Amino acid sequence: MSSSLIPRRASIPVDVGGVTIGGGAPIVVQSMTNTDTADIEATARQTADLARAGSEIVRITVDRDEAAKAVPRIRDRLLQMGIEVPLVGDFHYNGHTLLSANRACAEALDKYRINPGNVGFKDKRDRQFSAIIELAMQYRKPVRIGVNWGSLDQELLTRLMDENAASRAPKDARAVMHEAIVQSALLSAERAEELGLGAERIVISAKVSAVQDLVSVYALLAARCRYALHLGLTEAGMGSKGIVASTAGMGILLQQGIGDTIRVSLTPEPGGDRTQEVRVAQEILQTMGLRSFVPIVAACPGCGRTTSTVFQELASEIQSYVRARMPEWRREYPGVEGLNLAVMGCIVNGPGESKHADIGISLPGTGEAPAAPVFIDGKKAMTLRGANIAAEFKDIVERYVAQRYGQGGSQGAGQP
Ligand code: SF4
Repeated sequence: MSSSLIPRRASIPVDVGGVTIGGGAPIVVQSMTNTDTADIEATARQTADLARAGSEIVRITVDRDEAAKAVPRIRDRLLQMGIEVPLVGDFHYNGHTLLSANRACAEALDKYRINPGNVGFKDKRDRQFSAIIELAMQYRKPVRIGVNWGSLDQELLTRLMDENAASRAPKDARAVMHEAIVQSALLSAERAEELGLGAERIVISAKVSAVQDLVSVYALLAARCRYALHLGLTEAGMGSKGIVASTAGMGILLQQGIGDTIRVSLTPEPGGDRTQEVRVAQEILQTMGLRSFVPIVAACPGCGRTTSTVFQELASEIQSYVRARMPEWRREYPGVEGLNLAVMGCIVNGPGESKHADIGISLPGTGEAPAAPVFIDGKKAMTLRGANIAAEFKDIVERYVAQRYGQGGSQGAGQP
């Protein structure tokens, strides 16, 4: 499936440190560090890990003076490491103070994220919000106005609840909450524009933690504005719960053409790998045919016909191999991310599925001859036997990639 099959909602493009969000640009994958930003080395290292995993923008918390002072040094450290990913500062409550007192931080960041529910109250909120917007204008930076239902503007919510209660046909409380989230984002964006910030410097997000709320809120936002939209489910959770919830919510919206950049907010296991959220975001976009990042390795689920773990081990080894080779492949073999591989467990569906892939291997199931036919571009090319099937299969993949995607490669296939 190609991305052209899903018409995208028209949005105003926003430049974030050289990466375009919206305006029909490819949907951007972003992520956020969970290190203490004041710890320059740890934050630079994690940012670099996220960028190398494919995060095209990385957000870091800027919560106090030490963190703000660390930002330009993190930027320098990243440049020493050869990493040029745009950095977004995440501000709450004291962003105006931190940015005005730390001009090098204001300069080093590529975007400021502010939550209108967390910038103060009443007049103070207006002053603090205006101060951040004025700094954004001064430093020519875009802003994400990121509403979060957990810190929703209570004054606005109460007013809408009261108006709803007094109306002739009151809506249910959830619908009023959705409206409050949407209005909070749009009124803040409107205020930012009144202050002089162009719409081409505004990205909106409205994060909630339940799939149906996410779909409703973003459908309303998409219909009522042309700002670029940052999509994500907040507090998605750990492990499969977080992955499924994020995929379900974002999948529905992306299918409707809504969403210009995504972040999958996964809670890592203690000591877990933060880059998982980047891989999941990429997989959502690639599975939906919206972008390609790494070659797809299709594998059958396995069943009673595969009594050994050889098949699972091969599928997992090939998947890891492909990911590990991507940094080099990406440089040397443009277009390799579109490669399709298949690792199948037996002859029931194995040969058929393998033929649809660029390269497929069908392992022997229980009671089948100990031979693994390999299919290249739909044709049986060879049969592997013995204990070195994995290594031999990787060699075949490597040769195929070099021939098809290397300089002067066929791009159209042909057997290596
Ligand atoms: S291809 Fe074979 S091993 Fe895999 S699920 Fe189908 S029948 Fe089972």
